[in-house]
Amino acid sequence: MSGRLDQYVARRDFDRTPEPKPGPRGSGRKGNPRFVVQEHDARRHHFDFRLEIGDVLASWVVPRGPASESGDRRLALRMEDHPLEYVDFEGEIPEGEYGAGKVKTWDIGAFENITTAGNQSVPATSALDEGYLVVRLKGKKLHGCYALQRTEVSDNEERWLLIRTRDEGDSKAIAARHAGGLREDAG
Ligand code: MN
Repeated sequence: MSGRLDQYVARRDFDRTPEPKPGPRGSGRKGNPRFVVQEHDARRHHFDFRLEIGDVLASWVVPRGPASESGDRRLALRMEDHPLEYVDFEGEIPEGEYGAGKVKTWDIGAFENITTAGNQSVPATSALDEGYLVVRLKGKKLHGCYALQRTEVSDNEERWLLIRTRDEGDSKAIAARHAGGLREDAG
């Protein structure tokens, strides 16, 4: 999986940003994979949702943040993978740098990949590639199942929805129901 952090590195000047420089990878971190939601007070305030998958953090910008009501959907734009070290990064990215503004942890915890296809578990890396991933989050604010569903791929953009679901079965039903013409909830 080498090379997946190229874009992360290319966009940043580590002499200027306090963000972590990717460390040596592939050391096989022990324990449950982690997720983080960071509140990012950038030019446009948003939340960043990241899941530890493989040896990077798969990342999405969720402009309005994750929903807490079952069935609610939020737009999630896939961003470049971030290094694992980013999971507990907090700080201020200086003016003029990529993503300038304050980053702070909004929620953090472990998660479990519970994606299935025809009663078989799907590894998180495949689920991500296939554009349909179901996770159970075990954070302080966020508990329970969320489905991530890719809805649109264009030149340089992947649009996904982050859907709050009641349980695993519900995740599948919701994703199927909303496949095609997916929109985030208004309001
Ligand atoms: Mn951000």
